Amino acid sequence: MLTPSQIKRKLKEYSKEELIELLYQTVKANKEARTFVLNHLEEKSDSLGESKTGTGVVSFAAMSKWLELPEHVRELYISNVWCGSCSGVTTIKDYNVQIEKFGIVLRGKCAKCEHSVARVVED
Ligand SMILES: [Zn+2]
Repeated sequence: MLTPSQIKRKLKEYSKEELIELLYQTVKANKEARTFVLNHLEEKSDSLGESKTGTGVVSFAAMSKWLELPEHVRELYISNVWCGSCSGVTTIKDYNVQIEKFGIVLRGKCAKCEHSVARVVED
C-alpha cells in the first residue's frame, strides 16, 4: 500500500497522457482520487504552457471518448491517417486527443516523415 506522498511522487513521473489514462481508469472508482488526479493534471497542463481554460478537463473528456472505443477500432484510426507530405496512408505517432466541432480529433506526427497529421474520429 502506497502512502499519499509516495503516490504523489509516482504521479510526478507520469506523462500527461498517462495521467489522463489513469484519470479515466479511476472515474468509476473513487471521487477523491479523481479530484486529486484531475488537479494534478491541471497543474501539469499549466507547466506545459497550455491555457488555463480547463484544458485538462477538455482533454480528459476527449480521451474518455477515445478510450471508450474498442482497441481494434482505435488501432484502425491510428494506422489509417493521411499524410499530405508522403501522399499516402500512414500511422500517427506522438498524438494527443482533442474534441473539436467534427468530433474527436487525433493530432500528431506522421510515423514516416514527422509531418503534422490529424485524424477525425467519426462517432
Ligand atoms: Zn509522412
